[in-house]
Amino acid sequence: MADDSKLNAIQTNYLLDDAWSPVARFRLLSRGINNNTRLENYSQVTGDRACLACGNCVDACPVVKENVGLVFDQNQRTSMALENHVQDECRRCYRCVNSCPQVGKELKEYVSGFRRVEKIVHMLAAFTIISLAATGVTHSHYADALGGFEANLLKYAHRTIGVISILLPVLYYKLDIKHFRRTVKKVFSWGESDTQWFRNSLSHIFSAKSDKKIVRYEFNPVQKIWYLFIMSLFPLLYLSGLGTMFMGKAESAGLITPKLFHMVFALSFDLMLFIHVYIKFIREWFKTSFRMFRNYQETGSFVFTRGKL
Ligand code: SF4
Ligand code: SF4
Repeated sequence: MADDSKLNAIQTNYLLDDAWSPVARFRLLSRGINNNTRLENYSQVTGDRACLACGNCVDACPVVKENVGLVFDQNQRTSMALENHVQDECRRCYRCVNSCPQVGKELKEYVSGFRRVEKIVHMLAAFTIISLAATGVTHSHYADALGGFEANLLKYAHRTIGVISILLPVLYYKLDIKHFRRTVKKVFSWGESDTQWFRNSLSHIFSAKSDKKIVRYEFNPVQKIWYLFIMSLFPLLYLSGLGTMFMGKAESAGLITPKLFHMVFALSFDLMLFIHVYIKFIREWFKTSFRMFRNYQETGSFVFTRGKL
């Protein structure tokens, strides 16, 4: 981080961990327009850090895309408008900061690395969960059809990946204790705002006249339940997996075995994972496809045009 950007690391970290659009404040922490930025020497704008109303941050923001769609009105394509669109639903993806021409390069580099450990652990968790499901299901259903070598290979791959998944929270704790603590603290903090969130969401679902919305802010109650679900199910999977390793004989004697529990836990985990993937990705693809289809009906083109959304 460069000293001349007057970047205060503590203040910057605070801004990045706050669930509020960070781009305007990062613009102000930057050095602003440089003399060399223009062909002519506009010395009066040197150091200017004002919003250019280019709308890059608005176009880049996933919350705007989801809640508002494309924004054509120039008044609504500024950092202030972005804050209004997003409010406390910011997901801390920092795409707005990275897309802003007024934010300095050193700040963008800092922001890009700020949640790197979280992202790597999340990616590894996704990889291990999918691999565990694939190896577990294949071994469970097709072990007889496979040769002995292949079946053993699958079995040991499943166990090895299981051990790797146990180590992921340790990795997260070791490499980024601050965000590890932040996550745990948020997940276990429950209060009146959560009750209100459920009330508003139910009102939105069951009352056609309701002006309430389902707000997907960071660590909303459903997201917290998802984290709690993962935290509680993983130990159950480990224990039932260990039981399966040591109680094979009980299974052949026709008893209810840890393997049965292991499979039930794994199945419920896979179902919840599918819902998670649906909410995060598939639902957005459906919404975008629907918007394109509606645009096609209105304009005869799949390309969104001004004022048609
Ligand atoms: S969700 Fe991402 S792009 Fe949108 S305001 Fe928050 S950090 Fe910026
Ligand atoms: S990306 Fe453009 S609109 Fe957004 S804050 Fe930066 S200059 Fe303003």
